[in-house]
Amino acid sequence: MVAIDSINNAGELDIMLSRMQEMVTNYIREGEHRIRPVVNFRNPNELYKVVDFSLPDAGSGADGTFDLIKSTLEYSVNSWNPRFMDKLYAGANPIGVISELLLAVLNSNTHVYHCSPVFTLMEIEVTKAMGRLFNLGTNAGGLFCPGGSASNLLAIVTARNTLYPSIKKEGYLPRPFNPTADYGKLKIFTSSHSHYSIDKGAQLMGLGADNIVKVPVDNNGRMRVDELERLMCGSIEKGETPFFINATAGTTVLGAFDPIRRISAVAKKYNCWLHVDASWGGGAIFSNRTRSSGIEASWFDGSELADTITFNPHKLLGVPLQCSMLLTPHNGHLLYAQANSLQADYLFHGNPYDLGAGTIGCGRRPDAAKLFLSWKFYGKEGFGARIDRALDIAQQFTDIIRCRPNFRLVKNSTSFLQVCFWFVPPRIASFIEKDGSLLANVTKELHKKVNQRGDFMIDHAPVEGIPDFFRIVINAPTVDLHDDLEKLLEAIEEADSSIEEWNEILQ
Ligand SMILES: *Cc1c(COP(=O)(O)O)cnc(C)c1O
Repeated sequence: MVAIDSINNAGELDIMLSRMQEMVTNYIREGEHRIRPVVNFRNPNELYKVVDFSLPDAGSGADGTFDLIKSTLEYSVNSWNPRFMDKLYAGANPIGVISELLLAVLNSNTHVYHCSPVFTLMEIEVTKAMGRLFNLGTNAGGLFCPGGSASNLLAIVTARNTLYPSIKKEGYLPRPFNPTADYGKLKIFTSSHSHYSIDKGAQLMGLGADNIVKVPVDNNGRMRVDELERLMCGSIEKGETPFFINATAGTTVLGAFDPIRRISAVAKKYNCWLHVDASWGGGAIFSNRTRSSGIEASWFDGSELADTITFNPHKLLGVPLQCSMLLTPHNGHLLYAQANSLQADYLFHGNPYDLGAGTIGCGRRPDAAKLFLSWKFYGKEGFGARIDRALDIAQQFTDIIRCRPNFRLVKNSTSFLQVCFWFVPPRIASFIEKDGSLLANVTKELHKKVNQRGDFMIDHAPVEGIPDFFRIVINAPTVDLHDDLEKLLEAIEEADSSIEEWNEILQ
């Protein structure tokens, strides 16, 4: 037990920060230069043996704690290594680490202005600035939520409460169960390739998973607007009430962008809320290419027509997890409190700068400050350059795969930053020609072998009837076409060579 009068926080922190500084900079350097593998992977039983997970009665002080920090670094995934291509986020960056430190030092809560005045204004300004990029107009703004799924949930609740405010007090009582209701079963429309958080949000709200209509996609994975309208009309004919359309800007697996402008016309016609889930793709708004005349210009075309937009800076912009926001053109962050509060007079009693009034939670992390500081550091142009570089590398990598024997692209072109492909082992190519579904097992087997080596971390996925393929995410600003991506293709070829008998595996 430490005596209160002997507490010297500043001195203790000073000593620990110096120790920490050396440890983390070495760790980052080794990851960045691929000296340290992406992961020194242990399954749970093995991990219990090498890391001390016991919780002591007597504190072990800096020495004991630093041993634990050391083994945490040793057995965790080093996302600074650009060969971590498994998920939609990559390593953080130096200003990201510094901003997390600032948040921890201040230990602030952005629910009310007087507890976090600076962070509150940063949140208001950075959501306004993002709103301007998406052309949401002068009343745009938003709030940060603990992740893209939470932002999507806040969008669905806000839409429902704005369109059908009686539900706030009376609960959800649709026709035909309640013949006098002004709504039937509420329906959500989203593409079959959209993120599962939409389904989760609907479940949480008691709408039921069966009331999410999955709209088919075209060959490029984009929502088919003709099918959307057809399905909506069918639903209305049955007495149901479509109220929410989710368009995805950058789907999780294939990176497709739904056509927002055309979807918005359908939303208007049938009085639906238009939400754009740009959790993943949203970062691309920083690229000038989205304001040019190329294919990239179509990605956010019509974004000004959205009622809400989710965007996760923790994915494409390298801001540390979590960092996600829900933007809106309608009255900025005040929309959420207006829609979700039961007190119509909240505005006159509450402080409009108390951001917590609008979110589902109470206390909130000042995640906005992380984006704000990162934007200050890199500028809009720095973010744009990061995206452009990634887009170029994804294109070049796609071209390499197209020409390389035994590799086959899932789609002939890359729509975004996910490069999706199969490896067809030459020894069994003729079997695969007859039965393409074998590719799922081939991919899984090769994937296991590549990830076991520890120097790469990649993912695989199936999508709607298409057998599992490799999905390589190009995001880290340090990923190198030759040193990382071509080496990965070699690693896949080596994994194939190391397999003695494919036939046994495929049986
Ligand atoms: C990642 C992602 C989400 C979920 O974001 P979390 O922060 O992981 O909750 C939602 N939608 C899309 C399209 C995504 O890519």
